[in-house]
Amino acid sequence: MYRNLAEQRILITGASSGIGRALAKALALKGAHLAVAARTETALHELADEITGAGGRRPVILVTDLSLRGNAEQLAQRALAELGRVDVLINNAGVGCFGFQWNVGDGEEAREVYETNFWSPLALVRSLVPHMRERGTGLVVNVSSLMQLRTWPGLGYYASSKSALAAVTETLRLELQSSDIDVMELLPGPVDTQFLSESAQAPGAGHILRNLPIGTTDALAVAAVRAIEKGRRRLVYPGKLVAALYLPMLVRYKAARTVRKAGQDIDVNDPRVLRSGSNGDPIAQQARADWARAKQAS
Ligand code: NAP
Repeated sequence: MYRNLAEQRILITGASSGIGRALAKALALKGAHLAVAARTETALHELADEITGAGGRRPVILVTDLSLRGNAEQLAQRALAELGRVDVLINNAGVGCFGFQWNVGDGEEAREVYETNFWSPLALVRSLVPHMRERGTGLVVNVSSLMQLRTWPGLGYYASSKSALAAVTETLRLELQSSDIDVMELLPGPVDTQFLSESAQAPGAGHILRNLPIGTTDALAVAAVRAIEKGRRRLVYPGKLVAALYLPMLVRYKAARTVRKAGQDIDVNDPRVLRSGSNGDPIAQQARADWARAKQAS
């Protein structure tokens, strides 16, 4: 079924930067009425100004911290109150926690990854899908990651949170198959954002990124808008990496081989625990600031 975006009311999380920002702008310029959510209020206002400056409808700004249990449910209620209804839910907000398991364990950093990347999307589904079912139409887009197929020393929390999100996304689609509610999984590979710049600080991460195509947020947004309009089930971006989705064991085997090759460069005594996101630790903050400066200069 073709979805006319000009008729859609959309809640998108993680719209203050990167993929979410580009996607929000592309959807708004197609005429959608948006509620944009994240922690960084100034960035959301800048986005809203940019959208209205380009002729789009001003989005509703909803500041929230999705690493805290309970906030996702409140966010859904605020979005319903402001938009009247939510036709499309885009669970895009995401963070990583990079560090070896014997340093992080089940620490707060690790739990925040799961609250943001996994539990908050599920809380939003519980709050919004019943309304979609009542209306008999809707769409849930969950932004996972190709890292669900290819973990790495120190990246277990992020990779496993995205594997878990992918599994519940597939399950949700099966649960809703007798309805007209669509479920789409957006699987980005590496995309040039602040998140990628901080992920690159994790021990040995340079080896993962070597030889992989790096996409851009604008190109991803164009592909994602098309996929949302057409009601597609999955989108892998950059498209060159689509084989990974269909050959997961090969990808895992290749990753394990690369890890063995890269072994001597990965310092397993590195005690760093890198907290990502705009509230991240000094290493992540520095990586994000360097990325933003480099973008401004280019
Ligand atoms: P990004 O620029 O760091 O954007 C992350 C977004 O999530 C920001 O808007 C951030 O806003 C929001 N967010 C983070 N923690 C939050 C929290 N506790 N509460 C509310 N919002 C929060 O990174 P990105 O690359 O665009 O990532 C977007 C999504 O794509 C994530 O789910 C990520 O896992 C996924 N992904 C990215 C890549 C890549 O290579 N870039 C690859 C695969 C998957 P605030 O900091 O303002 O709260």
